[in-house]
Amino acid sequence: MSLYEKLKQIKGKSVVVAGAGISGISACKFLETLGANIVLVDDADLELIQKRIASSGGIPACVSLQQGIKSSITLQAELIILSPGISKNHVAIQEALAHSIPVINELDLGAAFLTSCHFVGITGTNGKSTTATILGFIAKAFDANAFVGGNLGIPLCETLVKGVLPKIAVLELSSYQLELLELLRLDAGVITNLTPDHLDRYPNVEAYYLAKAKIFDLLHTTGSAILNHEDPNSKIFLLDHAAHPRLDFNVKLGDQGIAIKGNTLLINTPTLQATLTLNQEQFLGQHNYQNAAAAVAAALALNIPLAIIQKGLDSYTGIAHRLESLGYAQGIRWVNDSKATNVESVLIAMQNFSEGVHLVVGGLGKNSSYAPLVNFCQGRVNAIYAIGQDAPNLMEAFKDFVCFDAKTLENAVLLAQKNAQKGDTILLSPACASWDQFESFAHRGDSFRKLFEEAKASSLRTKVKQSRAKKRLDCHVTNVPHSDDTGAYKGKRK
Ligand code: ADP
Repeated sequence: MSLYEKLKQIKGKSVVVAGAGISGISACKFLETLGANIVLVDDADLELIQKRIASSGGIPACVSLQQGIKSSITLQAELIILSPGISKNHVAIQEALAHSIPVINELDLGAAFLTSCHFVGITGTNGKSTTATILGFIAKAFDANAFVGGNLGIPLCETLVKGVLPKIAVLELSSYQLELLELLRLDAGVITNLTPDHLDRYPNVEAYYLAKAKIFDLLHTTGSAILNHEDPNSKIFLLDHAAHPRLDFNVKLGDQGIAIKGNTLLINTPTLQATLTLNQEQFLGQHNYQNAAAAVAAALALNIPLAIIQKGLDSYTGIAHRLESLGYAQGIRWVNDSKATNVESVLIAMQNFSEGVHLVVGGLGKNSSYAPLVNFCQGRVNAIYAIGQDAPNLMEAFKDFVCFDAKTLENAVLLAQKNAQKGDTILLSPACASWDQFESFAHRGDSFRKLFEEAKASSLRTKVKQSRAKKRLDCHVTNVPHSDDTGAYKGKRK
């Protein structure tokens, strides 16, 4: 019996879901609707597991929750759904595999039941979430039920639990997810770019790049491989793996594919020559133009009409924590780039500013040199506000700058607001992980947003107070008896 057939006949069968994260919990909810006998296991403490389950809205009552991923449990299963956070090398999983028990991912489970849906997978080192989000806006302009998720946050099974059947599903795929996928077949597979990363999990960069290239093995025979033409590592490592029809983005002007010229995307394929415009302020930065070009390539591969692609691009509202323009308080712009957790990402952010930056940086350091950043900040940055555990290293690296050991984010923005002039930017782009002071980069970004909202509200309060004071003054002046009672004096003051 094929794995696909096995899934279709899962009613009454024993399924072990390994990993009580959001995708595992969602798989449990969907498996319940299929009538499977479900055991949910996780190696974390029971208390922590229960907390996680509660914050994800609970699990169906029929699910048996057990602490510990043990062979005694996995060997009883007819199918295992493995969360991407748990390694396939886990002893209990390896034993199950040795007994030919199929081990799949939550995305495979969902995809097997979405038979009339077109799937796009997006992977790469940087820009996955942004590209998936931009493509999501385009897909939703085409199909209001379009699904956007995977590694981006929402599990695919969620849409099945809700009974919403999308025509298009856009999936951000991490290399860990790619390793586990068996059934999912893609109409388009995008690799945004490749740079060394995750070397804690892979023996060398080649192994990591090969794990990314697996996305092309998941393509239907007519599916499109979408590559970043000017990305050096994509050129070296991916071309041999992309035998499918190809649609490259970030190509040289005039070449086949999608070229970027200013905020215009120039499409040049054997069947289409056209342009699209990136009108939104949220497409800040060259890297976001590349992400938009990748998303457009995928949309073209899905045959979404050009006018709808433009409509989708025009509706793009940005993505939280990635060079996200929050707005202005007292004439000072606030930009939240909390997701920039390494030096490379901050360099990319800094390319968008020529001067007047008050840079909030720091957190849990990654032992990489800040030297390239220090050079790049010359002239662009007015002051550095170092926070978190790596503040002493940052103070040392930026010793030639105006530099404050602000310790906390609150303190940093207070200082920055005091120092900044109208037209300046307060940029949170930390170059560090967040876990020393926050639960996640999103928590750090949300805290920054809250501080912005407070600054905005207090600047509004100041404005209201000033305007009330001015009105009182006007009243006072107009109450002064005037030789000419025509009100001309009052008018003049206004
Ligand atoms: P991912 O999902 O791959 O982690 P995101 O879209 O969340 O990537 O972006 C994270 C950070 O990576 C951004 O804040 C930006 O600094 C950087 N980045 C985004 N897109 C690109 C790109 N195309 N090339 C290089 N860096 C990028």
